[in-house]
This record gives sequence, C-alpha cells and structure tokens, in this order.
Amino acid sequence: MKQVTQEAWAKRPLIISGPCSAETEEQVLETAQRLAKTGKVDVLRAGIWKPRTRPGSFEGIGTKGLPWLQQAKKITGLPVAVEVATAKQVEDALHFDVDILWVGARTTVNPFSVQEVADALKGVDVPVLIKNPINPDLELWLGAVERIAKAGISQVGLIHRGFSSYGNTEYRNAPMWHLAIEMKRRNPELMLINDPSHICGRRDILLEVMQKAIDLDFDGLMIESHIDPDNAWSDAKQQVTPEKLAEMLEQIAWRHEDIDSAAYHAALEKLRQQINHLDDELMQILGQRMKVAEQIGTYKKNNNITILQTNRWNEILDRAFKKGEKLGLSQEFITRYFDAVHMESINHQNKIMNS
Ligand code: PEP
Ligand code: MN
Repeated sequence: MKQVTQEAWAKRPLIISGPCSAETEEQVLETAQRLAKTGKVDVLRAGIWKPRTRPGSFEGIGTKGLPWLQQAKKITGLPVAVEVATAKQVEDALHFDVDILWVGARTTVNPFSVQEVADALKGVDVPVLIKNPINPDLELWLGAVERIAKAGISQVGLIHRGFSSYGNTEYRNAPMWHLAIEMKRRNPELMLINDPSHICGRRDILLEVMQKAIDLDFDGLMIESHIDPDNAWSDAKQQVTPEKLAEMLEQIAWRHEDIDSAAYHAALEKLRQQINHLDDELMQILGQRMKVAEQIGTYKKNNNITILQTNRWNEILDRAFKKGEKLGLSQEFITRYFDAVHMESINHQNKIMNS
C-alpha cells in the first residue's frame, strides 16, 4: 500500500470528506482543492456509483468519474475513497488507483453482494471501510467484516452511519449509538469512524452529532461536502461547503482517550470504584426483585392466573416515569430499563408456573 494511504489510515482523528457524488470534473477538482486548502482533511471521498432507494434519481456518474478522482489526487496529494458494491466496480476502482474502498449500507445488508465484493478483493492490498447495514443488525455488520477479512484484506474499518426507521424522526437514520459502541466493544482492534451526514440528513444538526461521536471516542469522521451544497445532484440537504466543514471541525472540542496525569487517574479510579459498588448493589436488588417475582409466580400458578396483566405493567411504568423525572432519568432510559427487567421477571414467573 502507498505510504500516503498508510499515513492517512493511521491518522487520528481520521477526517474523510468530499461530495456525496462525483458530478463533473470541475466539481470534483474544485471540491478537492478547497478541502485540501483547509488542511483538515485526510482523504477525499466521492460516490461514483450511487445505490438509490428509488429509481429515477441520479445513480452516479459511473466509471468515467474515476479519472477525475485520479486527477484530484494528483493535484492535492489526498488519497481517494469510493463506494463499491459489485466485482466490476471493485475492478474499475482499483484500475484507476482508488486508495480506499468502502462498502455502503445497502450492500452490507446483502451477504451475496458482500461476498462478491470480497471475492473481487482476493489478493489485493487495499483498505476497506464497512458501513453498518441499514437495519439495526450487528450480526450482518460483523458478517460483512468477516467476509472482507477472509478475502485477505488486513485493513478493515467500520463506519457508523445510523439505521433507517419507519416514520419521520429528527434524524434521517437513527444513530442508535449503543449499537456502534457494542460493535466497537466486540472489535476493539478495528477503526470506527462516524458518518454524521447520513445520520442527520440535514446540515443544522451535523455539529452536535460530530461532537457526540468524538465524545464517544470514535476514530474519525466521514462528512459529505460540496462546492454548491443546495444544488448537489444527491443528498443536497446534508452537504456543506469545504469552508463550512473546516469551521465545524474547528468548533469541535477534541477529546483524548487518556492523559498522563496521576491526579486525574487517582480521581477517576475512585469514582470508578463508586460505580462498581453501586453496580453491585443494583445487582443485589435486581436479584431480590426476581425472587419476589417468583413468589408472585407461585401465587398466580396456584390461582391459575395469566402472567401478564397489562394494567399492572402500565402502572409500573407510570410510577417509574414520575419517580425518574425527579431523579433526572429520561423516559427513554426508564422504558428500556423496565422492558429488560419486566422481561426477566416474566421469564422467572414463567419458570415457576411451569415447574
Ligand atoms: C454515501 O456515503 O453517499 C452513501 C450512499 O452512504 P450509505 O451507504 O451510508 O447510505
Ligand atoms: Mn450521500
């Protein structure tokens, strides 16, 4: 692998930017030059083949855009990254010296496509980034990583771009941060970067998502940028100019994973012990709660009553919301927590009823 690519791959935070789609040669070259001028971007991205949800939208300029990227690289020195979804696209991208490939969210969901890409990559030394699948399924994401790694690709990275959900929400793709965190926990050796553009789908909340990713210790960001965002041929609402991107990167409070200070470490250690202690107590209490649930199970069994009584469940949640509000706990947390506790409780009761 070329040294510039290797250096970019190792850089933290790694910043990848460029248009959603390559549109014209002028657009690609001007974007690349203006991004390079900021001094804050490590890799130039551009979609060449665009997987569009509905037919009729711009489906990418295709192979003819690849020489534009080559030219952009020559002028700016920035390595270039492109999305690939088929063997032919891998072949074309490599033929035109694309430095980093990425697998898109609509491809990660399909093991046939991922395998086709993986087969085309056999014997090739190129880094590959893998976006999360559009649905919240970690196994599919892991499966794609395994297929690409098995093909012999040693440099694999992850891109968290959010998960699609039905109906209108604040985000185009819900971040579901816990899934990205769990993916990182399972693959601590893999680079994990965040794609705020496809999570937000709009410019005004990009910065807060970027900041959150940095707060969560992501290794970098992939952000779409365009010389004329409003008139972009795809994803117009979420793109920003290279200068706006630089401004946002300037505004981020960059965090360190660690610092070399004994006082900080001592204070942190003390607080962590408190957390451990509280967690132990929580477990004790949860264990007790399950014992009580089992007693309830015995009563229900003796009286031949169903386990689930909806009213009671609503009552539990209502009580918890009221109490939680005073304690600064969000309704989202309370709902998730009680869902888990309630399910466990039902399982315990069920065991008793069938014993
Ligand atoms: C893209 O990066 O332009 C893209 C199509 O992203 P995703 O695969 O995350 O939808
Ligand atoms: Mn896009």
